[in-house]
Amino acid sequence: MPDRPLLIAHRGASGYLPEHTQEAKALAYAMGADYLEQDIVASRDDVLIVSHDIHLDRVSDVATRFPDRHREDGRFYVRDFDLAELRTLNIHERLNQDASGPAFPGRFPVDKGNFGIVTLQQEIELIQGLNRSTGRNVGLYPEIKAPAWHRQQGVDVSSLLLAVLDQYGYRSKQDPVFVQCFDAQELKRVRGVLGCRLRLIQLVGENDWGESATDYDAMKSSRGLVDVARVADGIGPWIEQLYTPAEIDGQPVSSGLVRMAHDAGLQVHPYTFRADALPSGFDSYHELVSWFVDELGVDGLFTDFTDLTLDVLDSLG
Ligand code: CA
Repeated sequence: MPDRPLLIAHRGASGYLPEHTQEAKALAYAMGADYLEQDIVASRDDVLIVSHDIHLDRVSDVATRFPDRHREDGRFYVRDFDLAELRTLNIHERLNQDASGPAFPGRFPVDKGNFGIVTLQQEIELIQGLNRSTGRNVGLYPEIKAPAWHRQQGVDVSSLLLAVLDQYGYRSKQDPVFVQCFDAQELKRVRGVLGCRLRLIQLVGENDWGESATDYDAMKSSRGLVDVARVADGIGPWIEQLYTPAEIDGQPVSSGLVRMAHDAGLQVHPYTFRADALPSGFDSYHELVSWFVDELGVDGLFTDFTDLTLDVLDSLG
């Protein structure tokens, strides 16, 4: 692996192509990503699908193709469709929360293109095939999505994930995989009950996001991080948890979370670095990435823009 922070292609080259499509993954691979991210949800017939949401309506034409198949909340769930049905969908650029327009207006047009849903197996075969044809060793970075919800729906998505990874030869900490999850209880179960020996990343959210029952306020302390380190190899914090924006003409101020995590022996891979959605306090993408790398010393970056991030890392030497 390179002697610089790891480049993790967040949902693929999602700054340029609809997220989690094969096209977005191939482009991120070509741009030089070290790891490609997969979000993992289960279909009705228990096939693992690469999809950020447990719903399909923000990124596909499901409502047109299967108008009667929504739940009472009006949403269309991956879990309610068999793979054969999911294969008929056209995947498009992400819509915003109320589906009134694109989530990122400057990106790939929502009404253009012809993209399909991707299974985890299909994506692993793409990455392994490219690794063979290029001689590189690009890794996987799967996220177990909503494990408690999946269990309510009658499926153990973590067990299914570990079985597929094992089938493709990913078994130990030496293999190029990080498994990530927001749910700390689930990550404990993955390590303990399921006996997973892969590297694990504890994602850190905010308590009001409703991602899981995990208490992230408690986690963001020295003691909380020591607990995380009993199970995981690193954390994936939200970038805004790592700093306070600069006062006028000043420098951003570290929250201390990176140092506490390093003291606990944890790697730190923050999300998400987006050139078209800069977090508060940064005026350019170069300034953003270079501050997190040089000042905070992060070990990896989730980014929608692998190419631009690599440009900054190269310029830092
Ligand atoms: Ca994710």
